Parts: sequence; structure tokens; C-alpha cells
Amino acid sequence: MSLIYLQGYPEHLLAQVRTLIDQQRLGEVLQQRYPDAHQVLSDKALYDYTLAFKNRFMRSAPPISKVIWDNKIKVMKHALGLHTAISRVQGGNLKAKAEIRVSTFFRHAPEPFLRMIVVHELAHLKEKEHSKAFYQLCCHMEPDYHQLEFDARLWMTDQALRGNAA
Ligand SMILES: [Zn+2]
Repeated sequence: MSLIYLQGYPEHLLAQVRTLIDQQRLGEVLQQRYPDAHQVLSDKALYDYTLAFKNRFMRSAPPISKVIWDNKIKVMKHALGLHTAISRVQGGNLKAKAEIRVSTFFRHAPEPFLRMIVVHELAHLKEKEHSKAFYQLCCHMEPDYHQLEFDARLWMTDQALRGNAA
């Protein structure tokens, strides 16, 4: 069984995941830990949700012009969402504008997974690479960041097993 969303995690964790899948308990375990889907369904709601995090933690980062659900993002190893930084010269000044797109795959996900993705994409406003500084910023915004990323990947794995491929 290939666990494509969990590449890079240590083998002892993957072995536990395989056991849960073999016992057909992965979905049940996730459902118990994350019982509720979020209600951030529209692009407007997603923008407001993201801006609340930005205003709280990343006030000095460039403004975000747009945050949208995007059904064209292929969810793979490191692309749960996408961010683009656009720089333009306006009246002699360089203006940076950022856009964040989140895969519609997470439109019906538990709220903590959406939070993890939004935190990830916001951190990219300051740190381009997945560096130590990048993950420190993620953990500053969401102390459980690493656990949530792992669990979100578990959830994606479970969805794929149910035929809901991203
Ligand atoms: Zn990233």
C-alpha cells in the first residue's frame, strides 16, 4: 500500500497507519479525534478566516489581495494550498501583493486541518522555503502545527481509500 500523502514520515509511524488501515479503523480514529467539519464554505468566508489569522500573527507581512477555494490544485506532497506573491511597481514604489488558494479538497474537512493549511500559506508570506524558520513561524501561529499536518495527511489518506481522490 503506498501512502503517498505521508511520504517522508518515519517508518514506525507509517507502520501504525498501515495497521489502522488493515483493521479498517483509520476513518473511525479520525472521526473520533476530529468530529466536526468547518463551516468556511465560501471564498468570502475563507478570506475572512485567513485575515483573522493574519491580523493576529502576521500584521507586518504584505497584504493579501485574495483568498479563494481552488479546485485545480492537485494535492500532493507539499501542495495543500498555494500562495503567490506578486510584486508590481506602482508610482515608483514596489508593491507586494499576495494571493492564497486552498484546495477545495479541504472544503469539507475538519476545521483544524483548514487552520493548518492557512497557517502554512501565511507563513510563506515571510519564508519562501520550508526552512527551520518557516516551521517556527507555523508553530508560533499554531503550536500543534506538526501534529495537525500529519493528521491532515492521514485524513487525505483515508479520503483516498474511500475513493475521494484529491
Ligand atoms: Zn509550503
